[in-house]
Amino acid sequence: MNQDKIKEGVRLILEGIGEDINREGLLETPDRIARMYEELAAGYSDDAAAHLKKRFHVDNNDMVMEKDIHFYSFCEHHMLPFYGNAAIAYIPNGEVVGLSKIARTVEVFAKRFQLQERLTAQIADAFMEELKPKGVMVLIQAEHMCMTMRGIKKPGTRTVSVVTRGIFDNNESLQNSFYRMLDC
Ligand SMILES: [Zn+2]
Repeated sequence: MNQDKIKEGVRLILEGIGEDINREGLLETPDRIARMYEELAAGYSDDAAAHLKKRFHVDNNDMVMEKDIHFYSFCEHHMLPFYGNAAIAYIPNGEVVGLSKIARTVEVFAKRFQLQERLTAQIADAFMEELKPKGVMVLIQAEHMCMTMRGIKKPGTRTVSVVTRGIFDNNESLQNSFYRMLDC
C-alpha cells in the first residue's frame, strides 16, 4: 500500500472541500487515514486460498452453516462503508474447513472496495475453488451508508444478495433448508 499517495489524496480532498489543512485538528488526519486503510483495506494483500487450505476429513456430507458473520466493507462507487452480516452454507464433499476460516474468507473480500453483489459471489467462488464442496450458498444483508447518509437517505434499508453454486443451483428444497437454518 502506498501511504504517501493516500496522505496526498486526503490532503487534496480536504483542500478541495475548502478546509484549512494546517489547522490543528486536521494536521494528522492524512497520516491517520493512511494508517487506517492498512487495516480496512487489508483484503488486497490477503488470500482466501491460504485460509481455506487447512481442511479436515468428514464421513457425513451434511450441510454446514456459519451465520451472523459481521463484516464492514466499502462501496466502490462512493468509498462509504456498507456493513451487515453474511451467512455461508456448504455441502461438503468429504472435507470441511475450520469454522473461523469461514469468517476469515468473508474478511478477505470485505476489506476491499466492493459491490455487495460481487462480494457475495467472490465468497461463494472461493469456496467452490478451494474446498470443492458439492455446493455453496451465500446470503449477505447489508446497510449501505451511500443509501442512508446521502442520496435518497433511507436509513435502515437493507440490501440482500444471494448466490448459489453447485447443487444449490435450482434446488428449491436445499435452498429452503438454507433459509430454515438461517431463521433458527
Ligand atoms: Zn455506494
